[in-house]
Amino acid sequence: MARRLALHWVRETGRALEAVLNPRRCASCHGVLTREENEWCSPCAFSWTRCPTNPRLRFDKPEHWSHGWAWLRNGPDRLESRLVHSLKYGVRSEVGVRLGRAMAKEWTPSGIQPAHWAVVPIPLHRRKQRQRGFNQSEALARGWAEITRMTIADVLIRPRSGRSLTQLDRHQRIRSTKGLYIPDPALDSTWSNGLDGCLLLDDVVTTGSTLASARNALASVWKGPIGFITLLDAIR
Ligand SMILES: [Zn+2]
Repeated sequence: MARRLALHWVRETGRALEAVLNPRRCASCHGVLTREENEWCSPCAFSWTRCPTNPRLRFDKPEHWSHGWAWLRNGPDRLESRLVHSLKYGVRSEVGVRLGRAMAKEWTPSGIQPAHWAVVPIPLHRRKQRQRGFNQSEALARGWAEITRMTIADVLIRPRSGRSLTQLDRHQRIRSTKGLYIPDPALDSTWSNGLDGCLLLDDVVTTGSTLASARNALASVWKGPIGFITLLDAIR
């Protein structure tokens, strides 16, 4: 009995010490999390700005998209961008899976049966994925698929690596994203059997050029409706 109590005490003290020396922090505001909180704090989850506009409308041809939805947009403190930063450059994919679930819970599938749709994560180049350890869009898709019952279809690959798009203007982006994605040559021709539509999933939409490029690649192997969802609409 005494031995068990002592062990318990050592374990609890160790945990308390760990919490003081290396506290778990919120992926959005970087504040210290309570024991009950996972990945982000409750005040952040409550105050993130939900995206009120339809991100489809920034495309030259919005009619190309059957659906367009972004969960968040930046509020005054840009907590939402900081969240995406933690998602991309964090060390674990778990935050992505949890965010995918959180997004899916606030999404209303209008006029479609999600179980007959596939979610298609935007791929990273192989080397980048190895460096990062995971693909943030795939992590989001895992959580998203859990809640919506969509299939995850890894249809696309990114054949070449390239510099980050964040420093480029819209026209440069469009040029540099041409042919950025292609259908996976190893794709089984039965991948789309029984599907009604596909939703591309990316972490952020800004100008839309990445999504447009992915859509072109997907449209070469899928003739049905294509929509998109993103965690953040980062348009300024
Ligand atoms: Zn927070």
